[in-house]
Amino acid sequence: MKVTESLKSGRKVFSFEFYPPKTEADAKRLFDAARELKTLSPDFVSVTNSSAGTLPYRTVALSGILKNEIGLEVVAHLTCLAHTRAEIIEIAYGLKKMGIENVLALRGDRENVVGEPPGDYKYASQLTADIAADGWFSVGGACYPEKHPEAATLEEDIAHLREKTAAGASYLITQLFFDNSLYFGFLEKTAAAGVSVPILPGLMPITGYRQIQKFTQLMNVSVPAELRAGIERWDGDKDGMFKFSVEYASRQAEELLKGGAPGLHLYTLNRSRAAMEILRNVRGGALK
Ligand code: FAD
Repeated sequence: MKVTESLKSGRKVFSFEFYPPKTEADAKRLFDAARELKTLSPDFVSVTNSSAGTLPYRTVALSGILKNEIGLEVVAHLTCLAHTRAEIIEIAYGLKKMGIENVLALRGDRENVVGEPPGDYKYASQLTADIAADGWFSVGGACYPEKHPEAATLEEDIAHLREKTAAGASYLITQLFFDNSLYFGFLEKTAAAGVSVPILPGLMPITGYRQIQKFTQLMNVSVPAELRAGIERWDGDKDGMFKFSVEYASRQAEELLKGGAPGLHLYTLNRSRAAMEILRNVRGGALK
């Protein structure tokens, strides 16, 4: 089913994000996680795509396995900066052949592109327009409650987001965040700017101190004092960190759903345990 249709159903939509594995052992772990998470009947899983040249084909292959062998609805991420329009058409054709009906249209990061980008695409909205025009795919896009790192202001970023939805993005998934007030504030600002599509919050349970440093530095994601204190408290204690992290994300998830979020998108890092526990914690409550 197309994600756009699931979002129209009125019930909470939930999903898990995976990335293409690099080794056989990683692949086995991912497929085990996907089978386990399937028992929770997610609306879709999404498969990331490297911004570098040849790797989208891995995303296409993995998307096909998850859809046709494991039986999950799949959203394939597609980045455009490294590709010519002809390559994008070929990748989209590959996805169609696998029966994939959902694409998350992204720009990708300049520093991940080897050499000079071909220049057919500068922004995700251009890719969105091309993929949406095809008519086969339901197209989603990315958004950033704390603004994209390159944008001068959140207002400017939201104005470009409006262009992306006008180009055909029928829902958005947020960058991860740890402070729900940023998401709710973002919903108000986007609505005021004329962005009327559903915005799925992206959540990730944190696994350690270094991870949180990376998010703050590279992704412009702020870390509330309570989360920082917990991470410092449990640093070096794997079980303690896991428990704290799942509890924090579960509380975040419950509050988001009660506050009107259309569902949840969980960044899984190809593992099932934390995602399973978070969903079990929120079920019986807002997801029912
Ligand atoms: P855009 O929407 O093009 O925005 C990029 C910047 O350009 C923003 O600052 C925006 O304000 C600005 N902009 C947009 N339009 C214009 C315009 N007309 N004029 C001037 N400025 C403009 N990366 C990967 O490599 N692979 C993935 O699978 C992947 N999945 C992601 C999934 C999610 C949910 C999210 C939130 C991000 C993901 N990313 C992924 C990261 C993403 O590729 C980067 O954040 C990238 O820098 C921006 O991509 P975008 O699609 O948001 O770009």
